Amino acid sequence: MQVALAIAGSDPTGGAGLQADVQVFRALGVHGTGVLTALTVQDSGRVQQVLPVFPTVVLDQLRVLLADIPPQAVKLGMLATDDVARNVEWGLATVPPELPLVIDPVLAASDGTPLLEPRAIPSLERLIGRATLVTPNLPEAQQLTDCDVGTQEGVEAAGCALVSGLGARAALVTGGHTEGPPDDLLVVREGGSQVLTWLAGQRREVGPVHGTGCTLSSAVTAYLARGDDLEVAIERGRRFVAKALDGAAQVGKLARFLSYG
Ligand code: PLP
Repeated sequence: MQVALAIAGSDPTGGAGLQADVQVFRALGVHGTGVLTALTVQDSGRVQQVLPVFPTVVLDQLRVLLADIPPQAVKLGMLATDDVARNVEWGLATVPPELPLVIDPVLAASDGTPLLEPRAIPSLERLIGRATLVTPNLPEAQQLTDCDVGTQEGVEAAGCALVSGLGARAALVTGGHTEGPPDDLLVVREGGSQVLTWLAGQRREVGPVHGTGCTLSSAVTAYLARGDDLEVAIERGRRFVAKALDGAAQVGKLARFLSYG
């Protein structure tokens, strides 16, 4: 069985975070391992507390796990603090550079609660520099690149900056968080240039949902662990999220959760 590793924060509701990642991995037939970066206190509507895991314990989790169960793909989610992000960087120093790495650059929850301290941005950017794919939503893309994502040109500039400026192999800027069409922009580095593709999405009126970003990035990670090429994994990951949104269920009192089938 293939193995995918998520390095992420805890969401006790199971709608996002490490709990959702591991559920997605399993739904896609991949064994999920997990390194916890932070505890949170939250319900389906609001994050109420964040407690980062002691940074050296994050590193120890990674070292011990990687020595025993090498993954075929890795996903990073919430990193909480600069110290945690640096220890994740050190922990990943031993993995082969060709191992697929998907980064969901989690900055804040939908309710606005910060999930990464601002001084950790340079560490996150260094990690993005070794990513196979980075999957920001529009607010994250704007914060990481200073591009105005209110226009199509601005989104394209942001996607290109993540690839040419920060060094990711590819960026998928997701459009679902705004009022406009929920199209995603894919930018892939090919040789010395970048190929831009708009991927059309269909808005689904399901009300407040929790965990779409986590679900997309972990689904793409699972497909990469199974050996799919990047663009196939992205297409299948987007389809997985669309289906999970169609089946979204009122599990929590305050938000719907995606259904993994
Ligand atoms: N909790 C954790 C641990 C997360 O990683 C995230 C998102 O990445 C959230 C909560 C917030 O999820 P949402 O913004 O979908 O509410």
